[in-house]
Amino acid sequence: MIRDWRFNGVDFSTYPYYGGDDLGVTWSKEKTLIRIWAPTATAVELNIYKQGQGGSPIRIDQFEKSECGAWTIQLNGDLNGYYYTIKVNDGSWLNETPGVDARAVGINGKRGLIFNPEETNPEGWKDDQRIKCDHASDAIIYELHVRDFSIDPSSGMKNKGKYLAFTETGTLSPEGLKTGIDHLKELGITHVHLLPVADFLTVDEQVPDKSYNWGYDPLNFNAPEGSYATDSNSTARILELKMLVQSLHQEGIGVIFDVVYNHTAYTRRSYFNQTVPGYYYRQRTNGTFSNASGCGNEVATERNMVRKYIIDSLYYWATEFHLDGFRFDLMGIYDLDTMNQIRVRMDTISPTILLYGEGWAADKSPMNEAWRAVNTNVSRLFRIAAFNDDFRDGIKGTLSEKNSKGFVSGQVTQEENIKFGIAAACFHPQIEYDYVEHSKSPWAAEPWQCINYNSCHDNQTLYDKLSSSCCPKASEEEVKRMVMMAGALVLTSQGIPFLHAGEEMARTKLGDHNSYKSPDRINRIDWTRKSEYNEIFRYYQALIALRKTHPAFHMNWASLIRKHLIFPSDYQPGVASYSLVNHANDDPWKTILVVFNGNRNEVAFKLQPQIHWRIIALDTSINPDSTDYIYGDEIQVPGISMLMLVEDYFSPSMQFGEG
Ligand code: CA
Repeated sequence: MIRDWRFNGVDFSTYPYYGGDDLGVTWSKEKTLIRIWAPTATAVELNIYKQGQGGSPIRIDQFEKSECGAWTIQLNGDLNGYYYTIKVNDGSWLNETPGVDARAVGINGKRGLIFNPEETNPEGWKDDQRIKCDHASDAIIYELHVRDFSIDPSSGMKNKGKYLAFTETGTLSPEGLKTGIDHLKELGITHVHLLPVADFLTVDEQVPDKSYNWGYDPLNFNAPEGSYATDSNSTARILELKMLVQSLHQEGIGVIFDVVYNHTAYTRRSYFNQTVPGYYYRQRTNGTFSNASGCGNEVATERNMVRKYIIDSLYYWATEFHLDGFRFDLMGIYDLDTMNQIRVRMDTISPTILLYGEGWAADKSPMNEAWRAVNTNVSRLFRIAAFNDDFRDGIKGTLSEKNSKGFVSGQVTQEENIKFGIAAACFHPQIEYDYVEHSKSPWAAEPWQCINYNSCHDNQTLYDKLSSSCCPKASEEEVKRMVMMAGALVLTSQGIPFLHAGEEMARTKLGDHNSYKSPDRINRIDWTRKSEYNEIFRYYQALIALRKTHPAFHMNWASLIRKHLIFPSDYQPGVASYSLVNHANDDPWKTILVVFNGNRNEVAFKLQPQIHWRIIALDTSINPDSTDYIYGDEIQVPGISMLMLVEDYFSPSMQFGEG
């Protein structure tokens, strides 16, 4: 009989709730306990194997029905190193799977692996600690794909495409510039955000060099991906991922995982559906799987055991891997209650764990948007941030239109989008919200609810977009200036800044706008560009140092932003400017004037007279220790550049000595 995968009239809310924290495998030398939640099952079978794939089971046992929809089995003896699968019968037999709770798996995630968790801890792991980050807006996030980081020969790293590349120090590009973890330290970012490292489907772990994927095709939510490990059939995937975390922590860099609980790679064949058919997913009124992820299904985060599953999974990752944060793919699919409960649970570990996500979905959901974690509802989420797409598109142009330009590429009328980003999507009385691209109103209540960025793994890289969309065509020199100004906009604005890896060396994907499965030659970070675009790297480095030294650029409260951040009242086409006044956020600088000129030509900018302005940034240079002053009522701002002037406690007489 062919199974009907429509769920008309099934009331999932009547399924029993199992509240224990012991789902999955509990190993000890004497015995192994396995507990699963399968409330519709009539029988559950356990197969034990010697291999991660192939071969026949060496024993087959039956689970026993337990309370609240749970089934359990106990096997005596030391089963460390054995693989297992689970088979559920709910009237007919479903497929063999590792279940939904496996923390270690064999090759390609087809079988679970019984293991001793202690053996997955690297040396010194008990001393490993999360990094200090008192306020979310102190973070500077760098988004990176494990493989892209090291795969190119120019990386100078040995463990190409592997977790272990992050443990290599002293690596250099062919031109002798720092690469790898030394580069991250030199740049000064505070957190590395890794594209999905939980087990995903598409890359064959036996031949990881044969294909490429970003990893938004989840298979086992609680086990690390095997293609990045030196051995994909053992607990090396856990050990080596922990070594990555440890190594970054040793350099004072936090680690954020990108998590994809919003959908699964498979639908009918998913381990969710092969354990409790239908339960983990939302359905349309006709009973079929709905598809807000655009990938064939969407997870029903609001159902009790799904919510518990996600929260328990995050708790496991955060505690076991000492994580500093999570990024939620298509967070707009999650219901608000689940997101807020995630925050509460993470706070029991550390309130500094960063949580943020994409405040949108890819398609329609049967759950009303009013209850989901979309950008417009971010103010109802506590200490969870969302990506600011208004700012992103305002900076470089919209993604959908090939030739669409943004503020840095000389499009006038983008000024309000820029101001929207500068104020971190918070309400500011001097912003004309009618002119903001997507959001016609502020959606963040506080600046730590807003992730500001100009690019990420999706779509063309910043450099590619700016190179291809400018009309009249921009020279290479002009594109470089645009990249620098795009970085300056993100790194001086309020909120949480986020960089796409390699942005600081004009990363190119040769124009590819969706490289999720493109080959290494598209996705790799080409470290030779660090030398070729060294001016951009130095500029980003200086911006990051400036941001870290000056709290005025990352105020913690919207009320402070409204008090200390002033936009000018007059309009100048292609120019955006603001002042941070009265030692904003206890900044040592009394007044900071920031001017962005998006025009290709230089413009005259009116200055408040009778102030000795010290020049911090002019043209393409940044020098916070500069002793260059300007006194007058006007300054020329070069085309496509940021000007920053400050009024501080150094008076010219102190600097140059009188008498
Ligand atoms: Ca995999």
